[in-house]
Amino acid sequence: MANILLTGGTGYIGAHTAVVLIESGHTPILLDNFSNSTPKVAERIQVITGVKPMVIEQDVLDTAALVDVLNTHDIQAVIHFAAHKAVGESVEKPLSYYQNNVMGTLSVLAAMAQAGVHHIVLSSSATVYGENGVPPMSEDAPLSATNPYGQTKVMMEQIIRDVAVADKTLRYAMLRYFNPVGAHPSGQIGEHPRGIPNNLMPYVQQVAIGLREKLSVFGNDYPTADGTGERDYIHVMDLARGHVLAVNHLLAGNDSFTVNLGTGKPVTVLQMVQAFEQASGKPIAYTIAPRRAGDVASVYANPQLARQLLGFETEYTISDMCRDAWVWQSRNPNGYDEA
Ligand code: NAD
Ligand code: UDP
Repeated sequence: MANILLTGGTGYIGAHTAVVLIESGHTPILLDNFSNSTPKVAERIQVITGVKPMVIEQDVLDTAALVDVLNTHDIQAVIHFAAHKAVGESVEKPLSYYQNNVMGTLSVLAAMAQAGVHHIVLSSSATVYGENGVPPMSEDAPLSATNPYGQTKVMMEQIIRDVAVADKTLRYAMLRYFNPVGAHPSGQIGEHPRGIPNNLMPYVQQVAIGLREKLSVFGNDYPTADGTGERDYIHVMDLARGHVLAVNHLLAGNDSFTVNLGTGKPVTVLQMVQAFEQASGKPIAYTIAPRRAGDVASVYANPQLARQLLGFETEYTISDMCRDAWVWQSRNPNGYDEA
């Protein structure tokens, strides 16, 4: 059982991972600058688990402060979630994305080297497969990116690989997430994007509660089952469990690895809308809009390697994802702020 530092730990995926870490007997410590989250998450985690995790307000760019945290709390592994993550915003503000995501990773690695911490799990993304990949995506596919956010993920991976070549004591797990959705089934924690959501599920959720009038479905002339884009949606609790398997695998002394975390099953936009309508009992108004720039028809994982290496199997269905997203959204229309 280990003390594990979660950078970006009060964010969407970090909070769910903290729950599963606590339930597995580990001690997560959540470090965040709250640029896209709130420390209130810790109380919600306590409601679920009975344990209130320690939250440290800190920017990952401050290497000296990170060294201090790693030493003071006897950290054995770091899960590095902290990053900016909005594709569109990254095109508008590339400097901010390279600064936060790439420099943040350099800072975390430098701090780990100074403090003698040898295990890192990185939040990577299916976006590293770029637009030329042929699904199902396998880990050995060539990497590329179509926007600054994606570039930062390709760079973050490469930096970690290079550092691990030079420092034989460093062990990494690169986790390439497909499309994380849903929420903890309790409705205590979930995703609460600021402003107009860019991603499909949060947008659908906001239409369901009446915050947005209708969904724009970006394109219905793709070569897919119903013409709308296909993605590989994974329940955030399955994803969280994948992190715990990954960190345990590293802490058990195994070699570094890179795996996809997805279900391997493509689901179209309209299939998702229908599943959400069924789960919530709310009609989702939508119109067909032009394709979104940079979108591809179909992205889904080859999940074999994660299964083989970690024994990772997803458990939640699309209807579970919609049900839990709806429980969260309907009970917390203002996110972590009181209604
Ligand atoms: P999130 O925004 O909810 O969480 C990220 C957290 O990092 C936030 O709490 C934010 O306040 C914090 N943060 C950002 N910059 C920081 C800094 N400099 N110092 C300290 N804290 C900082 O996002 P998420 O969905 O939980 O994503 C977590 C990670 O997973 C990110 O690296 C993201 O790129 C990656 N990822 C997310 C998705 C997705 O669809 N959600 C898909 C693939 C990869
Ligand atoms: N999408 C859509 N309307 C929206 C948001 C997304 O039709 O308002 C579509 C998008 O074109 C893609 C799918 O939903 O086919 C998933 O998009 P998201 O942005 O959630 O994930 P990503 O494209 O980054 O995988």
